[in-house]
Formats: sequence, structure tokens, C-alpha cells
Amino acid sequence: MLCRKCAEIYNLEGLVSIGDRCDICKGIWDRIDLSELPSRRVSIRISGFDDSKYLLQPKTTLNRAIKDLLKQRYGLEIDNTDPDVYIDISPDGVEISRAELFVFGRYWKLRNYVSQKRWRGKNISSVEESIGKVVAERYGARDYKMHASGREDIDAFNIGGRPFVLELIEPQHFQVSPELINTNGITAIIYGRVRRVFRSLVSDSHFDKGYLCTHRELDDAEIVRLNDIRNIKVSQYTPRRVERRRVLKTRYRKIYSIRAFRNFSYIYAEAGTYIKEFFHGDGGRTRPSVSEILNKNTECLSLTVSRIYDRFLDIAYRRYRL
Ligand SMILES: [Zn+2]
Repeated sequence: MLCRKCAEIYNLEGLVSIGDRCDICKGIWDRIDLSELPSRRVSIRISGFDDSKYLLQPKTTLNRAIKDLLKQRYGLEIDNTDPDVYIDISPDGVEISRAELFVFGRYWKLRNYVSQKRWRGKNISSVEESIGKVVAERYGARDYKMHASGREDIDAFNIGGRPFVLELIEPQHFQVSPELINTNGITAIIYGRVRRVFRSLVSDSHFDKGYLCTHRELDDAEIVRLNDIRNIKVSQYTPRRVERRRVLKTRYRKIYSIRAFRNFSYIYAEAGTYIKEFFHGDGGRTRPSVSEILNKNTECLSLTVSRIYDRFLDIAYRRYRL
């Protein structure tokens, strides 16, 4: 038995008996009500309907017909990769769920002893929480996750602006406008909404960086010696301070240049260089190091990420913004 609508779709009018207990759609037509939809930008996913016995000369398919009807009745805009809302339709009924919202921003960490990620059960403030709370509240989201391009050490500052994508879980609003956030020693700019694919573009990226290190006083000869450094290759065996978190192996990174002054230096280095270890040498695990070059123990007393060479993301943003 088919309902009148399905009999028409499958071109079987007059060939099968017509009634309310439809073999194909299980009466789904009367059970779809989308009047409470939070946004019209949707992805419709239909599953579980079996029309295999009725495929003689169909005009269309049930899936197609449901989508066409909904699009027309509710003025929906279909976006299967970046919808605001998922509509799942099956013989069991209709389920509506909110998609994640992805926003692109950069943060500046003007205070140290703030970690990037939230620590469950630990009373330590984080960049993720400082920014996430404000933005999640703005868009009525239940939760949030930060996907940043790398991270600085907990005791380091960042005045270069680190790119991130904030993922908002079950948001109420989907229109993102730019804003400036100042909270807890963290400054962030939210640029706008981006497509889902932009998240991994940011979290998988590795950018060269400029660092500002303070150190003990150098004499003139030492300053000259450091300023002479151009494009040296440094081998770094996994530093002792991260050996429990990172694979144990030797990594090769480039130091492009150094501008040394009496008690601070700018270091321009390849993505992924361990800068503190480049100064003290980590007991011979990093070679060469500033200590080795100057033949004197030298430490980076405070570390600031002063520049991130990430212009690529601004270009990509123009393409992936929503
Ligand atoms: Zn039917």
C-alpha cells in the first residue's frame, strides 16, 4: 500500500492500492514541521526509506521529492558542507540539530602564566576559556573549542597575534560580526565566520616566527658574533621539558637571523624551533646554541612571540569566509 503522494512520485497511480499506511514513506509527509527552524541554511539528510520494490518508472525519488517540497515550502538554502542546521529525516521521524559555528580570530597574550588550553579541574586561566566564554555567550553556544596555530609556552608572551578558529557547539545565532575582546590579559580580534575546512587550515599550519628574548648583558664582541648569524641549521633533540609529550627524535630547524642588543635579542626562526633550548643548549641536546656559540651559559630569561608570518591566512580567509 502506498500513500497518494508516493504513488504519484513512483508513477504507480492506479497500479497499487492507496491508503494511509504507506510502505515507502511511513507517513513522513504529515510529520515534517519545520516552522521552528533556527536558520534556513540547512543540510537535509534522508535515510532508511526503502523504495526498492517500486522503482519501475519513478518520476523522481522520495529523497528528491522531500527535499524539493521542503525547499519550496520553507524557502531553505541547501549547504551540505557548512549548514547552520542539520535536518535528519528517517522513518522514525525528523530530527533537527545545530551545526558547529567556526569563527576566525587572532589573540595576543599580554600576560604570562596563562595556558592556551583549558585544564579540566585545574585552577589555571587559559586563553581558550578567556575568549571562548565571551564568544560562546554572544552566540548562545553550549560549549566551545579552540583550534590555534601552534601555542606559546605557558610563561611566554605573545604580541605577534596568534591565529585561531573557535568552534562553537550548538549556537543560537549564526551571523558573526567582527569584534575586539579584552579579557584577563588576553586581547583577541574576531574577524568573522569561516567554513569548516578553515579550521584545519589554521590548526595544521606552521609559520615562521619572530621572537624577543631577554638575556643577561652581552659585551660588544658577543653582540657582533650573534648578529653575524645567518641561516644556520640547528639540530634539536626533543627537549627535556617536553619529552613526556613529544616523540623523542632529532628535529632540524633554521635560525634565519638574530638582531642582538645589550640585554635582549630578536630571533627570526623557522616554525617549530625551541627558542629557549636554542639559548641554553639543553645539555647538548640542541646544537649549536647561543651558549655554545658564545662559549658561556646564556639563557632566554623571558620569551615573547613578537611576530607570526601568517599572511597566508588573511588571503585564505577571503576565500573561506561565510
Ligand atoms: Zn508515502
